[in-house]
Amino acid sequence: MKVEKTKVLREGKAKILYETTQPHDFLIQYFKDDATAFNALKKGQIKDKGIINNQISTWLFQYVGRHGVPTHFADKLSDREMLVRKAEIVPVEIVVRNKAAGSILKRLGLEKGTHFHPPLVEYFLKSDPLGDPLIGEGHIFYFKWATESELKTMQRLALEVNQLLFRVFSEIGLELIDFKLEFGRDVRHGNIVLADEITPDGSRLWDTKTGEPMDKDRFRQDLGKVDEAYQEVYKRLEKYFQEHK
Ligand code: C5P
Repeated sequence: MKVEKTKVLREGKAKILYETTQPHDFLIQYFKDDATAFNALKKGQIKDKGIINNQISTWLFQYVGRHGVPTHFADKLSDREMLVRKAEIVPVEIVVRNKAAGSILKRLGLEKGTHFHPPLVEYFLKSDPLGDPLIGEGHIFYFKWATESELKTMQRLALEVNQLLFRVFSEIGLELIDFKLEFGRDVRHGNIVLADEITPDGSRLWDTKTGEPMDKDRFRQDLGKVDEAYQEVYKRLEKYFQEHK
């Protein structure tokens, strides 16, 4: 039976989440072209970003799923719509870093590009009004945002996703510098699943040959050729997944 949208559950900066005709099991994520940065102080649009990010997320969810990482992905319904299993989002964003870039540079006085071996995992509270502050395990357990066992699972899965995606991106000439993941509790089964999206909006990808960012940093920092960078990542992944079905 076809699952269809009913009403808007919530609208975020890059996606709209809809309830569906199977309200206990599925939601529909609609990917917009809207782009925001610096906690939505900077706003704009990236051409066809919704279409590109829906497809990139689909490829990457399916890929990590095939390698044993449970995700909320159920089906790609259209250019901009993804059917996802209903999950209660854990309000902790997990960032995995392979090299230093972005917020950690000023926060810890690091030089851009410093290697992290093993990869560094950081936690941020998912809160727009607070601007997603950095938090520690102590906060997560104290405020019961996740249990110890859930956090352990999320950390393990985030590092697995890092290994898997690092390899894929390096094969298409991109270095996975860092990325943010969100997890949820599958409402039917209670297990932790990878949720939200995996896209150049929430990752840093540097071209291996030129070192150029090919991700949302082009928008954040007004580097130009933003649309082209998203299209280029799409094209390279498309070729990769055509050859690695
Ligand atoms: O800003 P920061 O350097 O901490 O970001 C680390 C990674 O997490 C980057 O790839 C960034 O795009 C992503 N991120 C995100 N959403 C946030 C904060 C960071 O997708 N709210």
